Amino acid sequence: MSTIDYKAAAGALHDDLVTMRRDLHRHPEIAFQEVRTAAIIAEKLSGLGFEVQTGVGKTGVVAVLEGAADGRTVLWRADMDALPVQEENQTDYVSTVSGRMHACGHDGHVSIALGIARLLAEHRDSLKGRVKFVFQPAEEIVAGAQAMIADGVLDAPRPDVSLGLHLWNELPVGTVGVTDGAVMAASSNLIIRISGKGGHAAMPHRTADPVVCAAQIISALQTIVSRNVDPAQTAVVSITQLKGSNADNIIPECVELGGSLRAYSLDIRDHSARRIHEIAESISQAMGCTAEVKLRHGTIPVINSAEVTAQLRETFAEVVGASAINTDFRTMASEDMSFFMDGIPGAYFFVGSANSAKGLDYPHHHARFDIDEESLALGVALGAAAIGSYLF
Ligand SMILES: [Zn+2]
Ligand SMILES: [Zn+2]
Repeated sequence: MSTIDYKAAAGALHDDLVTMRRDLHRHPEIAFQEVRTAAIIAEKLSGLGFEVQTGVGKTGVVAVLEGAADGRTVLWRADMDALPVQEENQTDYVSTVSGRMHACGHDGHVSIALGIARLLAEHRDSLKGRVKFVFQPAEEIVAGAQAMIADGVLDAPRPDVSLGLHLWNELPVGTVGVTDGAVMAASSNLIIRISGKGGHAAMPHRTADPVVCAAQIISALQTIVSRNVDPAQTAVVSITQLKGSNADNIIPECVELGGSLRAYSLDIRDHSARRIHEIAESISQAMGCTAEVKLRHGTIPVINSAEVTAQLRETFAEVVGASAINTDFRTMASEDMSFFMDGIPGAYFFVGSANSAKGLDYPHHHARFDIDEESLALGVALGAAAIGSYLF
């Protein structure tokens, strides 16, 4: 047990956390272009005496805080990238880069991780083991985690536990979501190309119409979740793109559908993927068309270890009180944090950042997304307490 008052120690950093987050917010950098962000992180953590490695997974940074005694290795992950979104907020820390915006809160994640590093560095003398701070690029294109892992971030030493957080605008500020098992979904992209025979809109009998075929397929795909997935489990099949002819009097030669498949387990993902193939291919055949189905698997699900979440809940109860902890929060959004937790027990938790009274509750990736910055100090307190529960 440690005697650190995490809430008070993090509260003292509040102004610095806000200043750092706003600086990053003004200068957003998208996937694998996080050069300025990485340089700030490296400079801050070198200054604290951390062993810093840059260029890990292209633009990633790894910084190790070595404790005074031997012990376990805890990985703390923060993602750094912004999105190709034109910000519509009118704050004095609005993005200065056209068409780029921190619309997911990763600016806050970096600020929080730097705050945790600073807080824990002050207690280095009583720290047993080490913290591997991992600043990851390119989360939004699901490429950064795997790039860092390919560069050896999980080796020498291999972490005993992987931890991280996401600021979350579906939860009110002051609360934290810590849930067992799958909390974020496996995600796959889906393209179905239906080829028929095009022709004149007035002579459909001379065509094999891929548009009508696509309509049947879109409807039938809805039966995967309702008829093929166990009602006690869940999945999402969303068709989001439909590209055909661009004239009202032409039946096109082919139609392309795009969409997304989400599931909390790889079994359900793979079963749903098989059904997508079967449905698209057999309906196309029945309609005189052919279908080519391409599924590209992105993230695997984020699965929290029951043991780690139990430890975190107990720890967090001391920081925020048990009533602020939501133990049943999960989302169908996805995260490549899952790759750092694959084979390493861990927990990814959600720190509430919404405040509807202040209009700070736009969803992630929205052009008006913004957070209640009170969540920053809370994130530091919770993150430092979570790490501390393993190392003090
Ligand atoms: Zn995002
Ligand atoms: Zn995110």
